[in-house]
Amino acid sequence: MLRKLAKRHAQGTKMKVAVVFGTRPEAIKLFPVIHALRACEQVDTRVIVTAQHRGLLDQVLDIAGIKPDVDLDVMTPGQTLDGLTARLIVELGKAFDAERPDRVVVHGDTLTTMVASLAAYYRQIPVAHVEAGLRSGDIHHPWPEEVNRRVVACIADLNFAPTQAAADALLKENRAPEGIHVTGNTVIDALLATRERLLSTPSLAAGLDGLAERFAGKRILAVTSHRRENFGGGMEAIARSIADIAARPDVAVIFPVHPNPNVRPVMEAVLGSLPNVAMIDPLDYPHFVRLLDMCDLVLTDSGGVQEEAPSLGKPVLVMRETTERPEGVMAGTAKLVGTDRARIVREVLALLDDGDAYAAMARAHNPFGDGLAAQRIAQVIAQGAASATDMDEAA
Ligand code: UDP
Repeated sequence: MLRKLAKRHAQGTKMKVAVVFGTRPEAIKLFPVIHALRACEQVDTRVIVTAQHRGLLDQVLDIAGIKPDVDLDVMTPGQTLDGLTARLIVELGKAFDAERPDRVVVHGDTLTTMVASLAAYYRQIPVAHVEAGLRSGDIHHPWPEEVNRRVVACIADLNFAPTQAAADALLKENRAPEGIHVTGNTVIDALLATRERLLSTPSLAAGLDGLAERFAGKRILAVTSHRRENFGGGMEAIARSIADIAARPDVAVIFPVHPNPNVRPVMEAVLGSLPNVAMIDPLDYPHFVRLLDMCDLVLTDSGGVQEEAPSLGKPVLVMRETTERPEGVMAGTAKLVGTDRARIVREVLALLDDGDAYAAMARAHNPFGDGLAAQRIAQVIAQGAASATDMDEAA
């Protein structure tokens, strides 16, 4: 790898870095990294999207002003884990053969992340993993993400851990310490940059003006739910708990509903006609950040939302039994409530009715980063190019 980079330097060419992703959360968390890499003069940044989730991904690309260099467009209706894995390994392999990157950058724990790492490894291209080291300790929760991220850890030579706890998890698995860098989570970079944009251009999230007016004076509960392990009985219980909560006249629920066919029909059947529940289409990122800002409380099974809500001082109740992001729970701004209907209702109402309990959770706390993670990551990657240059000069 270093020899290849040194040769590039001798030829006056840059280190080619391919950033690969396929879903909304990866795009949100990687757009700051792409912008930071593009600011590095020794790096030629290429963006390869698999579009594992087409519509939600495109929303973020538009807002972030990112035009992919390669779009594999792999999504098919009713795609299965094995079918998607098979398409990804073939298509990513072809893309790497055509692009011939010096390094591949992946994020998190999706199938795109895992398969891109494998396809890079088959070609001996080094892999950098952003948001490395998250572990729930249970390979079935979140499923299949916990195994996806463990596979990437076996391959990556650069691991960007968002927190010290994530770095410790990698060290416990005997990953090389010199490849582990604690950077903070790039979601905080994305969140802070987007809030900044909203301050100067509030019209970017004007689509929520109507709901803000309609629900003025009510306590607003923001909900998201899409976890695969909650499909079926879990989704039904979540829907019924929301209906119970929304029976209170002082509460309103704003719920951007994930388009997944295992989510939307269940939610529509139970919540479709309730006056205090606004089921809306997935929001683009600026609108979602505004929703987090305007709500009183968040109920979610999402990973990223667990990181964003504490940073904005919003209590977050997590509809899971375990979390690979324990920092919010430890800080007291997040709480695991599972997917039992009665328990969700009890926990939400307890927070809404007990001012002290609410105040204890509603502290702006930022265990996940300081907004500078992407810069740190780009610097380490660019240093790889620089050290190849040093080697070349020393030879
Ligand atoms: N998000 C968004 N619009 C929405 C719901 C969520 O932009 O309508 C963002 C949210 O801010 C977070 C990310 O999507 O950054 C989380 O994605 P998701 O919950 O799909 O995946 P996970 O984080 O669980 O992998």
